[in-house]
Amino acid sequence: MSANADLVQRREKAVPRGVGVAHPVFSARAENAEMWDVEGKRYIDFAGGIAVLNVGHRHPKVIEAVRRQLDLYTHTCFQVTAYEPYVALAERLNARAPFSGPAKTIFLTTGAEAVENAVKIARAATGRSAVIAFGGGFHGRTMLTMALTGKVLPYKKSFGPLPNEVYHLPFPVAAHGVTVDDTMRALSLLFRADVEPSRVAAIIVEPVQGEGGFYPAPRELLQKLRAVCDEHGIVLIADEVQTGFARTGRMFGIEHSGVEPDLVTIAKSLAGGFPLSGVLGRAHIMDAVEPGGLGGTYGGNPVACAAALAVLDVIDEEKLLERATVIGAAMKTRLEAIAERNDVVPITAIRGPGAMIGFDIVKSRGAYDPDPDATKRVTAAAREEGLILLSCGVHANVIRILVPLTVPDALLHDGMDRLERVLVAARS
Ligand code: PMP
Repeated sequence: MSANADLVQRREKAVPRGVGVAHPVFSARAENAEMWDVEGKRYIDFAGGIAVLNVGHRHPKVIEAVRRQLDLYTHTCFQVTAYEPYVALAERLNARAPFSGPAKTIFLTTGAEAVENAVKIARAATGRSAVIAFGGGFHGRTMLTMALTGKVLPYKKSFGPLPNEVYHLPFPVAAHGVTVDDTMRALSLLFRADVEPSRVAAIIVEPVQGEGGFYPAPRELLQKLRAVCDEHGIVLIADEVQTGFARTGRMFGIEHSGVEPDLVTIAKSLAGGFPLSGVLGRAHIMDAVEPGGLGGTYGGNPVACAAALAVLDVIDEEKLLERATVIGAAMKTRLEAIAERNDVVPITAIRGPGAMIGFDIVKSRGAYDPDPDATKRVTAAAREEGLILLSCGVHANVIRILVPLTVPDALLHDGMDRLERVLVAARS
C-alpha cells in the first residue's frame, strides 16, 4: 500500500469523518508555494492552507522571528504576565486600521473565536442582542458562528438548536438573481417583520464572501449597510478572516469600498501559518467590555505574535499589496483565455479583487447551470497534475485560487499551465 493510502486508512480509523479532507495526500514538507507529499510528489500550492499563507510556507523571516521567540518564552498567558510582542502587534495593526480615529486590538486564536468576540464586543457596546448576517456567508464552526454562517449543509445540519437572535439577508450576486436593492428590501422587511433596528447590535459582512463562492460585496451594498448602521446605532463588522493581509491588493478587503467598518475580524494570513486571530476596532467600542470579559488562555500566543510581526514586515518589504494586484491580473488574463477555448470544461464569471480569484464551472457555455460534479473532477485531476486546488460556493462549483503572494512568476505560470491542462482533461 502506498504511503498516502496507508495514512488515509489510519486517518479514517483514528479521526472522525466529520473532519472533511479535500485531498487524500499527506504533506511531508513545504516551501513558499510548493509542497511535497509523503511519497515525494511535488505540488504547486494554490490553496495556501485556506488563505493562511499569503507570505508562503515557512517564509525565512517568519521562521527566524519564531526561532528567536522560542528561545525566550513560548507562553505566559497574556492575562497573567503580559508580553511586548502582543502590544507591538496591536500597535502596528491599530496604525493600519481601515477606519479613522483611535483603534484597539485584542488577539485570540481562531477565526471563529474572533467573530465570537466581535459579537460580544458589539453587544456590550450597544446593550443589544440581535445580529444580522448574510446567506452564503461563512463565519466559523462554533455555536454562534455556525448560526451566523449562511449555509445549512454541511455546517448547520444536525447541530441545533442554534443560538437565537441571528437573522440572514440574501447576499447580492447577479448570477443568483439577487441585487443590492433586493438585499435592502429584505432588510427593511426584516426590520418590520422580525426584529426592530433598536434591538440589532451588529451587521456582519465579508468584503468578499470566501467559502460562499468568492463573491465581492458590491461597494453600493457596503455603503448602504454603513448608512443603516449609522442611522440605527448598529455596529458594522467586516469579517476579514479570509480577505485580510494583502490578499485582495489592500491590507483589508473593505478598503476597496471606501466604507469604514467599526470592528474588523482578522485571522488566517495574519501570522503566516501560526494560529492567531483578533478583533481590531474603534477604541470606544472595544473598551465597552468590563475587564475580564475578554481573553482566553492562548489568545495572542507570543510565538504567533512574533510570526505576525514578521508577516507585516514581509508584506511591506516585498510590496505584497502591489504583488497581489499583479499576480491576480496575470491569473485573470490566463483564465479569460482558457474560457475562450472550446475544448475545456465551461468556466465563467472570473472574478475577485487582487489575488482572491474565483471562477464558476458550469454545464454549458453562456448559461448559469452550476456543475459541482465537474468541479470535483477538476480538483481531483489537479492533484494528479501536482496542483493543490480548492473549491467553494453555495453550489460547490467555484474554483478559488489562494496562491501565496510570494509565488515566483515562473511557478505561478507553471500552476496556470497545469490548471489549463486539468480543465481540458475534466471536460467529459
Ligand atoms: N470567517 C471567515 C470569513 C472565514 O473564511 C473563516 C474560515 N474559513 C472563518 C471566519 C473561521 O475561521 P477559523 O476556521 O479559523 O475558525
